[in-house]
Amino acid sequence: MDSSRDRELGMKCNINRRDFLNGMALTIGAAIVPHPLWAMEERQNNPDYYPPALTGLRGAHIGSFETAHALRDGTFWENAGEPVATGEEYDLVVVGGGISGLSAAHYYRKSAGSKSRILILDNHDDFGGHAKRNEFRVGGRTLLGYGGTYSIESPAPYSAVANSMITELGVDVASYHKYVDKSLYSSKGLSNYIFFDKETFGADTSVPNPYPMSGGENEGEHEASHALSLFLKNAPISEQAKSDYQRLLSSNIDYFPGQSSDQKKYRLARISYAAYLKDVIKVHPDVIKVFQAFPHPLFGIGIDAVAAQDAWGLGAPGFDGLRLDPSPGKGMNRDCIPNEEAEKYFFHFPDGNATISRLLVRQLVPSAIPGKSDIDVVTSRVSYTRLDDPRNAVRIRLNSTVVKVNHIGPSANASQVEVTYAIGGKPYRVRANHCVLACWHVMIPYLCPELPAKQKEALESAAKVPLLYTNVVINNWQSWQKMGVSYFYAPGSYYSSAGLDLPVSIGDYHCSRSPSEPIVIHMVRTPCQPGLPARDQHKMGRAELYATDWETLERNTRDQLARMLSSGGFDPARDIAAITVNRWPHGYAYEYNSLWDPFWLNGGVTPCEIARAPYGRIAIANADAGAYAYTDEAINQAYRAVKELTAKS
Ligand SMILES: Cc1cc2nc3c(=O)[nH]c(=O)nc-3n(C[C@H](O)[C@H](O)[C@H](O)COP(=O)(O)OP(=O)(O)OC[C@H]3O[C@@H](n4cnc5c(N)ncnc54)[C@H](O)[C@@H]3O)c2cc1C
Repeated sequence: MDSSRDRELGMKCNINRRDFLNGMALTIGAAIVPHPLWAMEERQNNPDYYPPALTGLRGAHIGSFETAHALRDGTFWENAGEPVATGEEYDLVVVGGGISGLSAAHYYRKSAGSKSRILILDNHDDFGGHAKRNEFRVGGRTLLGYGGTYSIESPAPYSAVANSMITELGVDVASYHKYVDKSLYSSKGLSNYIFFDKETFGADTSVPNPYPMSGGENEGEHEASHALSLFLKNAPISEQAKSDYQRLLSSNIDYFPGQSSDQKKYRLARISYAAYLKDVIKVHPDVIKVFQAFPHPLFGIGIDAVAAQDAWGLGAPGFDGLRLDPSPGKGMNRDCIPNEEAEKYFFHFPDGNATISRLLVRQLVPSAIPGKSDIDVVTSRVSYTRLDDPRNAVRIRLNSTVVKVNHIGPSANASQVEVTYAIGGKPYRVRANHCVLACWHVMIPYLCPELPAKQKEALESAAKVPLLYTNVVINNWQSWQKMGVSYFYAPGSYYSSAGLDLPVSIGDYHCSRSPSEPIVIHMVRTPCQPGLPARDQHKMGRAELYATDWETLERNTRDQLARMLSSGGFDPARDIAAITVNRWPHGYAYEYNSLWDPFWLNGGVTPCEIARAPYGRIAIANADAGAYAYTDEAINQAYRAVKELTAKS
């Protein structure tokens, strides 16, 4: 690597990011603390244990996935030895401490009583699954970021079950407008930009985005025609591409004349948006490059692999003249721009839906999180030492990868299951009357070989969508202010987006309001290989994320920010205070896609319905069980799984 460039980027700067020992990021707040060399089993019981404040590599952090991979590779049991019988017995063991697992515990207590003894096991060092909190201490203040799940939202209205859970947790979704300052950035003249990188477009250039499709919460888009004129003047694409771009944005042509809305949707469901742009609207290839990455935040893949019908549903240009029926239920894919009810159902806490998981934990283990409202929980500190206290009815045990779940005796008449989990490679065994597998479905066949072959095959098909959610704390956002940018869409870059944190102040938490204050920048990468089928792209992306070392992640992060913000005077060596990369090789639940999953078009039973069938005393939850990557689905599936178990007993 070019060491002078590394110096410019600040690769050797002492920030809160990457001090590893035994592969674990150790910096807490602004101070570098010695490595907590607690025994693995004891880690969560040490009073200093506070994972939200760890920076560096989070998400699938070092120590969280090795056991699962060894189990997959058939090597785990070679080295593990006999499991230690803990003698612990529970009414329910939940595998997976994400929102689905926590919800399963919540519903089980409702059904079987609050004295039910429940153990929740999770392989990560923190609870919440994808709904994870990142905390930073910078310049004497605490800043929060979301390490995964961003908000309460859904393209479809919440079910009655999920809705009542949110209400029961005390979240008043309708009050959101009180906490968010939607016009903060626009009032300062900031708006959405496109960053064209030189590797893809020939020159590093930033221009206003005339057609922003994500980062919309930042609001304040340049007045559309002004943005378009600047785009047409400065975008590093050919003149023909500019003319085609303008034609696309204003197109009111019916490209499928004489066909009904359903017939048109039928065609759009079977071609990618890239093919629609190329073969139907016939735009210059540079225009396709500009739109290539727009579905990344939702689908984890680009327009080569997303159906044109879905692109229409997400509000992409080129469909106005088709006059498609926007009412739900008239097509297989995302039918239209989210309906009004769904749009209203939006709430972003400063740590995203980590607040939902924290509210759930507060209900399950009240002594672990002080306070009593959805407002005070934002700044409450979790006492991790309380989570696995034998005096509690509900215990949450972290750093524990479940490696085996089996009935004691034949599943048809067994009265208990045995659950074996590993901490630091060492197996332990507990017993329970019931088990909910709220973990990732691809893992279940390895845990539970006794399941029927057809079910295991369906479970294996639920391979997740990989993502990187990177939070960078900068000491001030004057460079953003100077450039007039609040959000970059970067179709050719390592990260396809980067934006200032959504300005939400809630309770004692105050967001950054002045460009002279520190702020969290949120960046998203979805590693994919355009041209391949969706699942293959995800598979390659997963491999990429596991193979990329910290130094490369840090360099790419610094380099992209430096290039995007150079004209605003951004200096990565001076301005970056902390970096946390939330790596999710197993990210979104895979959602069925009309381009790649023929059964989705043909109707009939879907793999997730086969996968989630109960088996003896074991039921199966997780968002994978609904093939739908949203919080409400994680809750819905927990509810169903618990009902299946408790209906029998
Ligand atoms: C980056 C990202 C952003 C998202 N943004 C949004 C959003 O804005 N809004 C929204 O509604 N949804 C969003 N989602 C989807 C939403 O987060 C999920 O649908 C939901 O949180 C899933 O919850 P879950 O409990 O089903 O799964 P998870 O959160 O994945 O939890 C399952 C847990 O089980 C653990 N586990 C797996 N195997 C084992 C094992 N063998 N032993 C022990 N533990 C195990 C996993 O490590 C994990 O911690 C997002 C997802 C991701 C990845």
